[in-house]
Amino acid sequence: MAWAKFFRKPGGNLAKSYQPGSMLSLAPTKGLLNEPGQNSCFLNSAVQVLWQLDIFRRSLRQLPGHFCLGDSCIFCALKGIFSQFQHSRERALPSDNLRHALAETFKDEHRFQLGFMDDAAECFENILERIHLHIVPEETDACTSKSCITHQKFAMTLYEQSVCRSCGASSDPLPFTELVHYVSTTALCQQVYQRRDESFGELLQAASTIGDSRNCPSNCGQRIKIRRVLMNSPEIVTIGFVWDSDQSDLTEDVIRSLGPHLNLSGLFYRVTDEHAKKGELQLVGMICYSSRHYCAFAFHTKSAKWVGSHTLPLRHYDQNKEFTK
Ligand SMILES: [Zn+2]
Ligand SMILES: [Zn+2]
Ligand SMILES: [Zn+2]
Repeated sequence: MAWAKFFRKPGGNLAKSYQPGSMLSLAPTKGLLNEPGQNSCFLNSAVQVLWQLDIFRRSLRQLPGHFCLGDSCIFCALKGIFSQFQHSRERALPSDNLRHALAETFKDEHRFQLGFMDDAAECFENILERIHLHIVPEETDACTSKSCITHQKFAMTLYEQSVCRSCGASSDPLPFTELVHYVSTTALCQQVYQRRDESFGELLQAASTIGDSRNCPSNCGQRIKIRRVLMNSPEIVTIGFVWDSDQSDLTEDVIRSLGPHLNLSGLFYRVTDEHAKKGELQLVGMICYSSRHYCAFAFHTKSAKWVGSHTLPLRHYDQNKEFTK
C-alpha cells in the first residue's frame, strides 16, 4: 500500500523537485533500526512521515500534557523517538519502546505484535487515533478539542448524501470523519484511462464514488450516486491507496496518476469552508510498499528536498525468515 500526503501552503519549490517518473534528489536523514526478525519497517515508515510533517512535529512538541499509560504509552514512546531524532548523534535509532507500546495496546486485537509485519497506513492511522485518546480520553467521532493534533490537523469532517436528479428526493445527510481517505487503485486506474484531462483530485473523487450508487431515497426507480461534502479545512490530507487487484500490476499507472498538487474541491463533491475551497495542498510524504518492505519518502520543507527513510538494515527479513529485498 502506498499513500500520499498533502498539506496546504507550499513549503518550497516542490513542483520543480517533484516530477513523476524522474529520479528524486534525496537528502540523508536519521533513521530507525530494523534488525532481522523485527519487521519494523511498517512502523518506521509511519513514524518517519509523522516526523517530517512540520505541522505534526511542532504541535506534538508544544502539547503541555497527556493522559499517560506508562510503559505502554504510545504518546511517550513517539515523543521519545522525536527527541532522539532531534538530539542524538546516532544515525540509526531503535524504535523498540514504540513497538512495545503498540504491541501492548493492540494485543487483544492481535495487531502490531512484536516481530510481525503489519500495514503501515493502518499503523499511521492508529497512532493518530491513539494520540487523540491520550489528549481527549474518550472515543468520539466529533472531537472539537483545540489541543487534539489528530482531529485539528488531520481529520476530514464530511457528510454524505444522495440526491436524486430525476425526482429531487434526498437522503438524510450522514456525518462522519476520516483521518485517511482510502481510494481503490483499480478504480483510480480505470478513471485515469477515461478522464485524461481531469485533475488528480477529480480522478480520486471519481474513483471513490464509482460503483457506489444507491436506489433513489423516494424509490422513483433511479440509481443515484453518493455525494460527499467536506465541511472543514484540514491542514493535512492523507490518501490511502487500496491495492485491491492482484492480477495486473498497476504500480506504474498509479504513480503516473499522482499529482504533486491536490485541490480539495476536486476531491469532494462540494467543499463548504472558504479556506478549503481556495487552498491547494502539496505532496509532502509517501509510504511505499514493495517486495514485502515498506519505505517512506518525505518532502523536507527547509531544504526543499525529498528525503528517503532509513530503516536499517535496508534489507528486510519477513516473518518466515525468508530473505526479501
Ligand atoms: Zn505517556
Ligand atoms: Zn481528537
Ligand atoms: Zn428519485
